[in-house]
Amino acid sequence: MYSMKINIAIDGYSSCGKSTLAKLLSQKIEYSYIDTGAMYRSVTLYLVNRGLIKDGKVDRNLIISALPNIDVTFKYNASKNQSDTYLNGENVEDEIRSPDITGLVSGISTLKEVRQKLIALQKKMGEGKGIVMDGRDIGTAVLPNAEVKLFVTADLEVRTQRRFNEMKAKGYSYSFEKVKNNLLERDHNDTHREENPLRQAEDAILLDNTELTIDELVNMAYDIVMKKQNH
Ligand code: C5P
Repeated sequence: MYSMKINIAIDGYSSCGKSTLAKLLSQKIEYSYIDTGAMYRSVTLYLVNRGLIKDGKVDRNLIISALPNIDVTFKYNASKNQSDTYLNGENVEDEIRSPDITGLVSGISTLKEVRQKLIALQKKMGEGKGIVMDGRDIGTAVLPNAEVKLFVTADLEVRTQRRFNEMKAKGYSYSFEKVKNNLLERDHNDTHREENPLRQAEDAILLDNTELTIDELVNMAYDIVMKKQNH
C-alpha cells in the first residue's frame, strides 16, 4: 500500500504534541520514528554525568573535546512498540526526560559543535527514507528535502497544562508556573540561537492542535501524507 517511501519532518515548540504525533503517525504508516530531542538530551546527560556542566555553566572547549566520546543510538523495544535511546550502549530513555536534563538541554543545544555532530547523524538516518523525524530544525536543516513537513503549534496554556499533567503522572510536583517558565525559556533559547533556530520552513504545513484531540491531529497528518504518496 505504501509503495513509495518518503521522509516526514515534524518541528515545533516544546510540549506542543509533536513527539506524540510523530510516534503515532510512524506506527500508523509503519515508518521508523527518530526523536532528535532525545539525542540532544543524551548529550546533555553525558556532560552532566562527567561533571562538565556546573551550575548550568559550561566550558565550551571541554565539551568539544568530549563530543567524539558520545555515541547516541536507538534500539527497538518490542514491549513498548517504540525505540529506546542508548547513550554509549546504556539505555537512558527515562533518565534523559528528568527535569534536570529538561532544564539544561536547550542551553547545550545552542552549541554549534553539538549541533553539527547530531545533524550529521540525523541526516544519515534519513538517507534510507521511510522516516518520521521530529525536532526543531528538521524541515529547515536536517531534512530540507523531506517530502512532507509539518509545523506543530498549540497555545502556551494548553502546552503547559499537558506538560504539567505529564510531570505529575511521573511523580514530579512542579507548580504550573514553573512548568510554564521552563517552556518559555526553552522556546526562547530554541528560537533565538544562532545555529539552526526553530522556525517554520516555508514549505511546512502548520498544524495548530490547541483544540484538537491527538487522534484528530494524527488523522490530519495522515491525510497529508497519503495525499503526498498518491501524487
Ligand atoms: O523535543 P525535546 O523537548 O525532547 O527536545 C529537547 C531540546 O533539544 C529542545 O528544547 C531543543 O533545545 C533541543 N533540540 C534541538 N533541535 C532538535 C531537537 C531538539 O535543538 N532538532
